[in-house]
Amino acid sequence: MDLGLTGRAAVVTAASKGLGRGSALALAAEGCNLVLNARRAETLATTADECRALGVEVVESPGDMNDADVPAALAALAVERFGRLDVAVANAGGPPPGKALDVTDDMIRAAVEQNLLASVRLVRAALGPMTDGGFGRLVCITSTSIRQPISGLALSNTARTGLYAWCKTAATDLASDFATAGITLNLVCPGLHDTDRVRQLYAGAMPDRIGDAEDFGRVVAFVCSTSAQFITGQAVLVDGGATLGL
Ligand code: NAP
Repeated sequence: MDLGLTGRAAVVTAASKGLGRGSALALAAEGCNLVLNARRAETLATTADECRALGVEVVESPGDMNDADVPAALAALAVERFGRLDVAVANAGGPPPGKALDVTDDMIRAAVEQNLLASVRLVRAALGPMTDGGFGRLVCITSTSIRQPISGLALSNTARTGLYAWCKTAATDLASDFATAGITLNLVCPGLHDTDRVRQLYAGAMPDRIGDAEDFGRVVAFVCSTSAQFITGQAVLVDGGATLGL
C-alpha cells in the first residue's frame, strides 16, 4: 500500500531510541524527510544515519522537549529545510514510577510539562504550516493507560489522560473548520514494547509477550498516511490485546 508520504516532511521528537526511533524509521521507509529531536546529540546522530540509509533527508536537532521553545523551533526548521511540514509525532521520555498518594506537586507538574504540555506545544507549532499545505497528520505517542490506568504509574496515567482529553477536543475543532479539515490529530498508544524504558521498569524480568518498537512505528506511519484521512480524535492502541477496557 502506498501511504502517500513520499516527499513529505515530518518532525519526530524523542526520536533517537525506542518508539520515537521506530516511528522515524517507519516514516523514512515511506520516503518522508525528517527533522529528528532528542536530548543527546550522539544517539540522535546514529538514528539519523539509519534513516538516511533509507534514502531520505534528515536534519538533527538536539533539544529537551521540556524547553517551551523547542517544539516551535522544530516546526520552523522543517519549513526552513524542506519548505513544508506534513507530519508531527510528539513523544518524550516517560515520567518516573510512583503511587498516586506518594507523588508530590512538583512531580505532577514535571510530568504534565513533559507528557502533556510539550505535545500540545508541538501540535500548536505544526498547525500553521499544515494549514498552509492543506494536509496534516499530528500524532501523540502516549500509553494504553488512557484506557486502563497502570498501577504504580500515577504520573503517566495523569498526564496522558489530560493530553487525550485535549487532543480529542482539538481534533473535533480541526475537523469542523474547512481550513483545517485535512489535518488529523490522533494518539497512538503503546502497550508493552521492547525499549530501554521498559527494560528499566521491568529490571530484567521482561514479560513473555512484548511488542516491537519498529512494528509500533509502522502503525504511526499508517495513521500519518493519506489512507487514514478519516481517522481523527482517536486513540489507537497497539498492545497485542492486553488492555481490558472497551
Ligand atoms: P526510551 O526507549 O527510553 O526512549 C526515549 C527517547 O526519548 C530517547 O530517544 C530519549 O533520548 C528521548 N527523550 C527522553 N526525554 C526527552 C526529552 N525531555 N526531550 C527530548 N527527547 C527526550 O522510551 P520508549 O519506551 O520509547 O518510550 C517513549 C514514550 O512512550 C515514553 O513517554 C514512555 O513512557 C511511553 N510509553 C512506552 C511504552 C513502551 O512499551 N515502551 C509503553 C507505554 C508508554 P535522550 O535521552 O537523548 O533525550
